[in-house]
Formats: sequence, C-alpha cells, structure tokens
Amino acid sequence: MIARSVRQVQQPDWISELRAAYSDPLRLLQDLHVPATDADLLPAASRFPFRVPRPFVSRMRPADPNDPLLLQVLPRTPEVVRTPGASIDPVGDLESRVSPALIHKYRGRALIIMSGGCAINCRYCFRRHFPYSDAVGTAQIEHAIEAVRSDHSITEIILSGGDPLLLKDDHLGEIITRLAAIPHLTRLRIHTRLPVTIPSRITVPLLHALTETKLKPVMVFHINHPNEIDAELDAALGRCHSAGIPLLNQSVLLHGVNDDAATLAELSESLFAASVLPYYVHLLDAVVGAAHFDVAESRAISIAAELRRRVPGYLMPRFVREIAGENAKTPIA
Ligand SMILES: *Cc1c(COP(=O)(O)O)cnc(C)c1O
Ligand code: SF4
Repeated sequence: MIARSVRQVQQPDWISELRAAYSDPLRLLQDLHVPATDADLLPAASRFPFRVPRPFVSRMRPADPNDPLLLQVLPRTPEVVRTPGASIDPVGDLESRVSPALIHKYRGRALIIMSGGCAINCRYCFRRHFPYSDAVGTAQIEHAIEAVRSDHSITEIILSGGDPLLLKDDHLGEIITRLAAIPHLTRLRIHTRLPVTIPSRITVPLLHALTETKLKPVMVFHINHPNEIDAELDAALGRCHSAGIPLLNQSVLLHGVNDDAATLAELSESLFAASVLPYYVHLLDAVVGAAHFDVAESRAISIAAELRRRVPGYLMPRFVREIAGENAKTPIA
C-alpha cells in the first residue's frame, strides 16, 4: 500500500486577511448581488470607514439586502441624521480615563485600550467617535501598565480597544508578561471580535501567550447572530477551549439583526456548541449615528422574558445597559 502523503494544512495568514478586507461598500454589494439603493452609502462610510474581512462576508447570504451580517456593517443614510440625546461618548469613557489608554470604571477591574481600530467596523459601535489618536501607542500602554502597578485595588486587567488582537503575537506576549509581573493582578481578560471575523487569528503563539503566565485568562467574544458561527470559527473557538481558556460572548441587541427571542435562543445554542457561554446582551448605547439599530427598552424586556422561557438558565445572557457614572453594567428588569 502506498502511504498517503500528509498534506500540510497551511494556517491562513490573519494579517493578509486583514489587508484583503473589503473597504468599499459598493464593491461588497456588487459581490453579494445586492443592489445599492442607499444614496448616502459613501458619505456615511467616509465618516467611519467601511471595513469587513472576507471570512465574515463568506457567511452572508448572497442577494439578501436584509442579511443580518450585512446589516451590521453597511453604511446607511440614518447614520448622518442627528438624533436628540445621542452623544459621541455615550458611556462616559473619556471622563473615566486614569491615563490616556487606561479606563478604570469598576472596582477591581480596569481596561487598557490596546489599539485604535478593529478588523471590522460595526456601524453601531459605541466607540466610533473615540479619540484613539491620543490613546493608542507604545508609550500610552507603558503608562497604563505603570498606573495598574501602582493601584493595588486592580486584580483583573481587560485588554480591549479597538481590538487588542490587532497587535502581533510577540508584542502582545511582551505586554502580557509585563502585566503578569504585577503582584496584585490575578486575571487577564481579552475583549475581541477579531477572531470572529478572521478565525485564523487564533494562533498557537497567541494561545501560549494567554496561558503561560500566572494570570488566569478569559476571552470575551462579540458575536451577535448565529450565522456568524461557521465551521472555521467553530474550529478556532475549539482551539481556545482546548487550551483551557474560559470563553464568553457578548452581543449588542440590534434592530433588524437579532431583536427576537428565536434568533437569540439559536445564538445561545450555537455558542454552547462552540464551547462559549453567553455573558451579556447589551442594549445599544446612544452613540451618534446608530439610532436606526435601537431597540426600545420595553421590547428588550419582553425579548429577554421570552428568551428565558426558551433556554436553560446557563444559556441565558444578562441583558444590561451601560449608564455613564454607574459602578457596574445596569441589568434591565
Ligand atoms: C464593561 C466594562 C468592564 C467590564 O465589566 P464586567 O461587568 O466585569 O464585564 C470593565 N471596564 C470598563 C471600562 C467597561 O466598560
Ligand atoms: S468590533 Fe467592537 S469596538 Fe470594533 S467596531 Fe465593532 S463594535 Fe466597535
């Protein structure tokens, strides 16, 4: 018998996936066979650039203008309409900064802004107006680490952003090693959407960096709809799970995308099948340019009640709102 040659499966390079992302909404619509109808696609995209990696696009249904993944990324006319009550800093991040890259709002945990961007630009993003230019950089991260070192009340550090996984593995590894040397830190949390849009971001060196220090790691992904979980993402999440990292998910409740109990129940089930537990469903923050995604709180409450009837307690995310100045996320009744 002739031995079959073992085909080396080359890990797709996440950096080339980043570079290959769609940056033109008209091009994406063309490739999806969806007619461009919104006259303001381009002006909206120029305020907050259009960006969608191809692995995420591959999960969209062609020829469906209401595809729930497409709706999350497509610029729309309402983005440029002023809404009363909307703010460019709806959650009070700017006033909670201890140093330019360190946000310390809640007892025991503080958040470092690790990068100024994301692999994908979600149109509902509450940080779409964040002044990243003065917050991001090696000097700012240094300063944030020093601030964490001098505050003994902080036991958990959250790497967030912009997406922290935009940093290359060796750079991230160095930062994690330095954080692990701070005696009062015990946990390391990563808030990321990058592997959701580019699953090859879950590399072996990344998993080593997360698991080979004294810090207990936890990863919080951002997945809004069950269609976002395909076989490739499922396999990437499986690699994180096999490395022993607890995996959680947060979603944003988005009009027309996931604002019904059936979709959220399916999301909870799909997350669990991929070794991820649902953590939070966030009500939309009142950020300028995203009012068309808003779901009224009364509806959110009835969706939560219906979801509770459909899933086991451990697959029930907490429905919360972030209120500036509060000392934790606020549960909705
Ligand atoms: C949401 C958030 C956290 C984490 O809150 P948890 O309830 O622990 O998930 C920490 N810091 C900031 C600034 C936040 O916005
Ligand atoms: S991944 Fe998160 S931070 Fe980045 S654009 Fe989307 S919602 Fe905003």
